[in-house]
Amino acid sequence: MMVKNIRFFSPLILWLQGRSQGILSHKPGRSRRFSFGAMAILTAFVCVTLIAPVRAVPLGDILLRSIQVIQISNISERQEVQLGAQMHENLLRQGTRVSGDTVLNRYVTDVGLRLSEAGNRKIPYRFHVVEDKAVNAFATMGGYVYVTTGLMRAADNEAQLASVIGHEIGHIEKRHLIAQIRQSMIARGLVASTLGQSQLANIGVDLLVSRPASRQDEYEADQVGLRLLRDATYATSAMPAFMQKLVRGGSSPTILSSHPAVPARLRALEKAIASGVRNRCNEDGSAQICGLDERAYASQVKQRLLI
Ligand SMILES: [Zn+2]
Repeated sequence: MMVKNIRFFSPLILWLQGRSQGILSHKPGRSRRFSFGAMAILTAFVCVTLIAPVRAVPLGDILLRSIQVIQISNISERQEVQLGAQMHENLLRQGTRVSGDTVLNRYVTDVGLRLSEAGNRKIPYRFHVVEDKAVNAFATMGGYVYVTTGLMRAADNEAQLASVIGHEIGHIEKRHLIAQIRQSMIARGLVASTLGQSQLANIGVDLLVSRPASRQDEYEADQVGLRLLRDATYATSAMPAFMQKLVRGGSSPTILSSHPAVPARLRALEKAIASGVRNRCNEDGSAQICGLDERAYASQVKQRLLI
């Protein structure tokens, strides 16, 4: 199945136009067919919700048979992890290609665990390399984080890669997608209802690709990412440095100019770094320890990406 790529920060309209260049979208590839599928499920659910109270045999029981019913307003950590796993399956079905390169996946996992161990949530994080030339990364929920081979190639060093992974962990730490699902359900009048796990996962994937990233969520994920970088002994300066590199080197300035949040995020990052807890890596830290060794990154990661 052909999958249209959506890039970091790129607005939905460009995706709909089938644009293939850009950076920093946070959104996985997906097909339009999925939107219709999710709408159909949602429509079916709304019908069931309306009909169920007046039927002797709840239609909902039939529709939701064999799937777990989850109250999104009170989702447990275990359910969140299960939903993340379900969304992973959905993403694979929709054409997201997880790399089979065990060395690259191990590398990203090691970086991710170094960061997540400095985090507040003790959930089983899973980090996946996605085969995609687009410079992209995204997170769902329950510890599922994805980075593309294009992003790994674009980074100069491990700290820059870590800055993106740290930002994505920030989304999971703050349960941003769960909040978005909840808001979406409220908007559809489903606030007091329950949905099956697969329906929720569908809505989550749909939101991931169709809803513009909330600026507030982005700022928040940046701040969590900065803290994780610092506590995991990475150079926090790598986060604005990588963002600036992508802005400067963007192959599609039109897309970049349509993302006014980037300069504001950069300013917020610089301010947080200047006024926050000292990060020795930004001053006199070892390049090797702080993830700034470009040659090591080139030999361990970039060379493999050329294979
Ligand atoms: Zn983000």
